[in-house]
Amino acid sequence: IPLDITSYSFSLYPPSDSPAIIDASNGARISHRELRSLVLSLSSSLQHTLDIRKGDAVLILSSPSIYVPALYLAILSLGAIVTTSNPLSTESELEHQIGISKPVLTFTHFSLSHKTSTFRHRVIAIDSPEFRELAVPSKPVRREAEIHQNDPATILYSSGTTGRVKGVLLSHLNYIAVVAGYKAEAEDRAAPPIALMTVPLFHIFGFFMVLKTVALGETMVLMPKFEFSVLLRAVEKYRVTYMPVAPPLVVALAKADEVLKYDLSSLETIGSGGAPLGKGVIEKFAKRFPKVEVKQGYGLTESTGTATRTTRLENKKHGSAGKLSANIEARIVDPETNKPLAPGMRGELWLRSPTNMKGYVGNAEATAATLDHEGWLKTGDLCYIDDEGYLFVVDRLKELIKYKAYQVPPAELEHLLLSHPEIADAAVIPYPDEEAGQIPMAFVVRRPGSSLSEKQVMEFIAKQVAPYKKIRKLSFVGSIPKSPAGKILRKDLVAQARSPASKL
Ligand code: ATP
Repeated sequence: IPLDITSYSFSLYPPSDSPAIIDASNGARISHRELRSLVLSLSSSLQHTLDIRKGDAVLILSSPSIYVPALYLAILSLGAIVTTSNPLSTESELEHQIGISKPVLTFTHFSLSHKTSTFRHRVIAIDSPEFRELAVPSKPVRREAEIHQNDPATILYSSGTTGRVKGVLLSHLNYIAVVAGYKAEAEDRAAPPIALMTVPLFHIFGFFMVLKTVALGETMVLMPKFEFSVLLRAVEKYRVTYMPVAPPLVVALAKADEVLKYDLSSLETIGSGGAPLGKGVIEKFAKRFPKVEVKQGYGLTESTGTATRTTRLENKKHGSAGKLSANIEARIVDPETNKPLAPGMRGELWLRSPTNMKGYVGNAEATAATLDHEGWLKTGDLCYIDDEGYLFVVDRLKELIKYKAYQVPPAELEHLLLSHPEIADAAVIPYPDEEAGQIPMAFVVRRPGSSLSEKQVMEFIAKQVAPYKKIRKLSFVGSIPKSPAGKILRKDLVAQARSPASKL
């Protein structure tokens, strides 16, 4: 795909008057043509007023707004590097991230200024008069340095589910390769989708959705603040056809009574990714929304957010995460010996693809441990691929519970718990045990009005699993801590279970 760097579009369609972005909080909208002009104005100001050059990193610390995608595209068009942070990050988390990406400029909001007060570089609030001036058309951009497809485009952070976040360096080519994978689908469809962004724009899933929206002439509806009722209203009001989601939202759509009050008949597809989605949840969702296709995707920040995708038909394959996207090679290896395993066997998934990251910024050791010299990316996920090429994600290697000589995947127990009609949410962690080493411990959120007992839940699971996988400790809680990308923050639950102050 030819990359038109001047407006950072992939030159598939000329910009049209159809809406590119709609802000669901106030109904404001911007067409593809207007977005292109805004991007050109911002890139001119970044260059002439703020002296941003090729290779400079610019941090965006913001809740979603029309200006966020426009800034992403303007920064990329200069060959500068976009780096993003979650607005909920603490000051020390921000310090760690800035230490990695070393931005020369930050765009944020007035409401977050207490978090940026110690930054030693320039900070501009998107809601300031200064920013409004930057968005006014001015001189054309000077083409100073050539931008190559292999040049760095973004430093996004991994979720930090398994440790401290790492700065993942992705190139323009990585993104072009992802968008290319969607091109055939785009040519096949009757009308461009209207996508409601329930996933954060600062995460890889949201970031590539911005580029895909621009490249394929789609519409993106943004929610500056996530609220379930706002989401349902937005689907109804803007006749949303597609939603990229994290699995907890599929659970809510399948189970919450509130959903029934809205007209969601425009929905055609939801794309779930970032964490496992159980077969039971897909079936419940399909009962409520028989016409909506559930596509499950698997990927990492390190693989530009994508690797495999399913269609609804394939979801009938007991929770597969689908087949490899175009141009991706996969291998399942023995994590101890790094030797490839036969089809159907469980091992670590390795990927080789033009979507593989360039590396972790400032962390040669972690890069060498993750990307080998033949270009394979070691995902850290325990998976298998069946004889028809469908990928099944068992769990993260680091999260397996070691019960005696056995390994118990928490995700499998979580899927079973969620299939219980009276359970709204659940998470499973390893709990230290003198005799067994670790035992599976469940945290369970009951649906309102349920009087389900510990014993009933344990028996429900015991009937369905081998004895070594039984849940041996359980606590009822009000909610399960999750990352913005919908991942269970198991390390928080482990700390909670071990804390002496805990009631457990
Ligand atoms: P860190 O490496 O800092 O711990 P992270 O791996 O959580 O962060 P991401 O890049 O956001 O950061 O997440 C990628 C991981 O998400 C994958 O390695 C996998 O474990 C999980 N994942 C993504 N999609 C799926 C899926 N469809 N099914 C199961 N797990 C998934």
